[in-house]
Amino acid sequence: MRVANLNGRATIVTNAGCVDVESASHGAFSHEVGRVIERLDEVVAWFEKTSPAVTETTTPDEVMRDPRLGPAVIAPSQVFAIGVNYRAHAAEMGLTPPTTPMVFTKFPSSITSANAQVPIPSSTTDWEAELVVVIGARGRNVSLENALNHVAGYCVGQDFSDRELQMRGTPAQFSLGKSHQNFAPIGPWITSADEIDNPNDLRITCDINGHRYQDSTTGDMVFSVPELVSYLSTICELRPGDLIFTGSPHGVGQGQRPAVFLKPTDVIETSISGLGSLRNVACA
Ligand code: ZN
Repeated sequence: MRVANLNGRATIVTNAGCVDVESASHGAFSHEVGRVIERLDEVVAWFEKTSPAVTETTTPDEVMRDPRLGPAVIAPSQVFAIGVNYRAHAAEMGLTPPTTPMVFTKFPSSITSANAQVPIPSSTTDWEAELVVVIGARGRNVSLENALNHVAGYCVGQDFSDRELQMRGTPAQFSLGKSHQNFAPIGPWITSADEIDNPNDLRITCDINGHRYQDSTTGDMVFSVPELVSYLSTICELRPGDLIFTGSPHGVGQGQRPAVFLKPTDVIETSISGLGSLRNVACA
């Protein structure tokens, strides 16, 4: 099941059209996406049992372009992001894969929708296609075996990065360079976890102006999704709606020879098989 934030309301996106969760469930479930994430298992079960009629005929492709589309998650209590988490990306950056997950944050004010325009703040602004995990169940010290039971679903994410700011200072502090306005598009919707057999077997791509720079699989991750969920939970309590940006595959702009960075009017399309696409346009 796909749950979008359409016009500020939790909306199930089917191939036949959209279903407003609150009105179709006669108030059994909230219109707030955050509340729906907490009960996503129940919403999936209700939806499969009752097959409610669509409340508007907007198609998935139309939803992706709809100006009413908001971020798939609005106000996460925590946004974790993982650096150097793909083997081929580590190699292109001249780095050794880490032995412990390398964690920073994208501050929540950087979160935006799948079709947002992205102001380019510097001449070293780069792209990173990423699988984003949406936490559904609260927990600490979650075991590896139980980790995926704490995941509500997944979306596509972009970890836009101002490389100069990211690497400024000694030691470098990544978080601000990753948190400019609209640097964290997520969406286009949450795909519930029951639809994804293995989050580490998904094709992930990023095109800039139609040129494919990133084309990889989430199987190249150094630390898998269950490993990341379990590891983070040994330190921070995971809460419903928390996000994990799981790292970028190879093919970022800084990895090109010579390096390529984003400029206004560039079109950035980020896709993951089964999860949909983001289409962001860079602006001044
Ligand atoms: Zn990243």
